[in-house]
Amino acid sequence: MKGGKLIVFSAPSGSGKTTIVRHLLRQENLNLEFSISATSRTPRGDEKHGEDYYFIDLKDFKQHIKNNDFLEWEEVYRDNFYGTLKEEVERIWALGKNVIFDIDVVGGLRIKKKFPNKTLAVFVKPPSVDELKIRLKKRKTESDEKINMRIAKASVEMATAPQFDFIIENDTLEVALKEAEALVSTHIQKSSSEEE
Ligand code: 5GP
Repeated sequence: MKGGKLIVFSAPSGSGKTTIVRHLLRQENLNLEFSISATSRTPRGDEKHGEDYYFIDLKDFKQHIKNNDFLEWEEVYRDNFYGTLKEEVERIWALGKNVIFDIDVVGGLRIKKKFPNKTLAVFVKPPSVDELKIRLKKRKTESDEKINMRIAKASVEMATAPQFDFIIENDTLEVALKEAEALVSTHIQKSSSEEE
């Protein structure tokens, strides 16, 4: 596969990675386009199909798995499948842009493994699991049960941080944003000699 660079931001839910990714997308010099994942979960709040996610039903999702259409996919929460379609990355590369992913740690590391030199894999670390709980509650988009499910997963996800190229500690958002900008900027300027 030829094409632009891949930039992965992974983190436990509520760590602020989406805010960081949105900020980076606004920096025109970075030439980034968001990889829209497919998911079997239903839309939340004002999320839109083809913008936040491609919302597809479980049956269609499983058919895509069978057809080998995914670059990576995960059952992130029980019966909630998420995945990156190969054609999504091809779409972005065809635009001459670099791809930025907001995906879970397992998916993020899988992309890094498939494209080791093209990919910058960044882990966003929240100050603590307690702080994460506060942030998720403030967001008010999920039930207590769902929040607890996300918190339980967060501890497991935190343990994968050392496998990433960089860890950004999201204590102060302004600092985290600047750090993220610098990392991405350096990565996209590097020439990746190999074709993966
Ligand atoms: P949410 O339901 O909060 O939108 O996402 C739940 C988790 O799934 C988040 O950690 C998010 O980053 C992750 N996720 C979103 N898209 C993908 C994807 O394409 N692949 C994988 N492996 N995880 C994803």
